[in-house]
Amino acid sequence: MKFIDLHCDTILGCHRGGYGLAENGGHIDVRKLKAGHALAQFFAIFISPGPDGGLNPKSYEFFNDVYEKTYLPEIEKNPELAHAYCYDDIIKNEAEGKISSILTIEDSVPLEGRIERVDEFYKKGVRLMTLTWNYENSLGFPSSMDPELAKKGLKDFGVEAVIRMQELGIIVDVSHLNEGGFWDVVKYAKKPFVASHSCARALCNHQRDLWDDQLRALAKNGGMVGLNFLSAFLTENSNETTIARCMEHIVHIANVAGVDSVGFGSDFDGIGDCKLEFGDYAGMPMLADALGKHFSAAEVDKICYGNALRVIRESMK
Ligand SMILES: [Zn+2]
Repeated sequence: MKFIDLHCDTILGCHRGGYGLAENGGHIDVRKLKAGHALAQFFAIFISPGPDGGLNPKSYEFFNDVYEKTYLPEIEKNPELAHAYCYDDIIKNEAEGKISSILTIEDSVPLEGRIERVDEFYKKGVRLMTLTWNYENSLGFPSSMDPELAKKGLKDFGVEAVIRMQELGIIVDVSHLNEGGFWDVVKYAKKPFVASHSCARALCNHQRDLWDDQLRALAKNGGMVGLNFLSAFLTENSNETTIARCMEHIVHIANVAGVDSVGFGSDFDGIGDCKLEFGDYAGMPMLADALGKHFSAAEVDKICYGNALRVIRESMK
């Protein structure tokens, strides 16, 4: 049993809370990753909103601050973790008994319309970029229940950035992106992309979730969705996440788009007070056990890590 989780906000908690990755009171620390059989963890540097809400006016400086003061030192301090920049790194780290850490940015606001910054973040080790968060940025527009806002496409710079990310080997992430932007990514993507932390909108009508036609387009492109554990994305107006409800979403996505198109994108340490039946990362094996009631052993492996590994192999270098 092993897992690849496409999204967590743990690094921002460490940065702000002054605690470390070795052991903390959140959903993810090294002890819990080991107990939960982690193969690789995508760690986001989440660019929090500015002091008055809205876009962070110092987003680029904020990224660098978290990167230098928290992310790099935390990976350095914990020998159980090792950086991974491509598929081969994950395999090598696993052979050495280490859990791979993959750096991501949520969201791409620090690009500030400068294409050379895609290359700069790549050189710093970023291997997945979430195009937007909940505000308009230089790339495009966030998901919205307002049909006019939902249909706006990517900006010219957004298209340019998607193309450059894929050329370099950064995985493009459409979670938080609006529908118009999503369909532009489908149009311009030459490699598989992901919705790193979203759920099925047919089961829960939340703007952060994906309609069935979006799930099918993502799958057709070779990409995948990482299931988000936030209760509000799984069940309308709920603050409790049950294993049964996670299974319903995964089974739905597999039925609509195929078993190759779904995995996990927990959003651990970014989902507030919602109550999780499986507790934290150490409870991930409970989800694998439950998957075994709906899928074959080979399919369970795909959902837990194999699909993510395939996308990494095809889109990350
Ligand atoms: Zn998010």
